[in-house]
Amino acid sequence: MRRLAPYQTGLWLAEYIDMRCQLCRIYRSTPQSQLAHHQAPSSLHSITDTPPTRTALKKHSFLTDIIHKVDRYLSSSFLCTHCHNDITWLPRLFEVDIAPSISLSIQASTYYEYPIRQAIRAFKHQEDMTKLPLLLHVIRQLPRPHGCHRSNSVIVAMPTTSQRLAKRGFDPVSILSAQLSKHWQIPLWQGVKRIDDTVSQQGLTRAERLSNLDNAFALIENPPTKRLLLFDDVSTTGASLQALARAFIPPASIKSVTDNSHSSYQISAYVLAHGSKS
Ligand SMILES: [Zn+2]
Repeated sequence: MRRLAPYQTGLWLAEYIDMRCQLCRIYRSTPQSQLAHHQAPSSLHSITDTPPTRTALKKHSFLTDIIHKVDRYLSSSFLCTHCHNDITWLPRLFEVDIAPSISLSIQASTYYEYPIRQAIRAFKHQEDMTKLPLLLHVIRQLPRPHGCHRSNSVIVAMPTTSQRLAKRGFDPVSILSAQLSKHWQIPLWQGVKRIDDTVSQQGLTRAERLSNLDNAFALIENPPTKRLLLFDDVSTTGASLQALARAFIPPASIKSVTDNSHSSYQISAYVLAHGSKS
């Protein structure tokens, strides 16, 4: 049986029953298909493209009707066109080095600024679940990486420490990553853990962050696929994702330019928002 993603029922209620825009609360939300976005077409179209047999024509028109309804529901949006267009989607990719000749590209859905920043902070720090529909809207703007699918890729969510989990009582990134997994139809993989004794990254300089993050992650097992899609909620300098990516690179490659035993993994990273946390 397929397990529901966390808070799935609440999201469905927000999407199908409360159809007002999650930001202005005035206008009704606009179907995702009518918004300017970069998503791959729904796989449901391929079902309707299959030519119906003669005997199945009646059934076909009934099924097409159902499929169109489901399709419309699946592609409905949490924001009205006005609010959606007020946000800058998919700002430029940025890159960080993870080894002398290997860089990691990081794609953000939007900038870490109003109103997304307030929503992320309320969700993370006050456990405000009413912000989840808006954050799901942000997740849905991330296009599935080219050529990636369920059998050749996994999503690696930024792991939290058990200390942080105990303090917060919930893991916001794992909730968001479950939604990304549903959106991209790519499974999550949880074979990397975060070592507990690293202190919080907040308020540290870039150099301090990097040394703090050294050896912060450890592989529990080898990934099942070669393509790894790292995911975090917010990235400022990219330092955390850089450190997470390094967990998949042989130590020799990190130290030496001449070492050619590069990671055999294709790693890229995705975040909801990119920008300054200050
Ligand atoms: Zn609106």
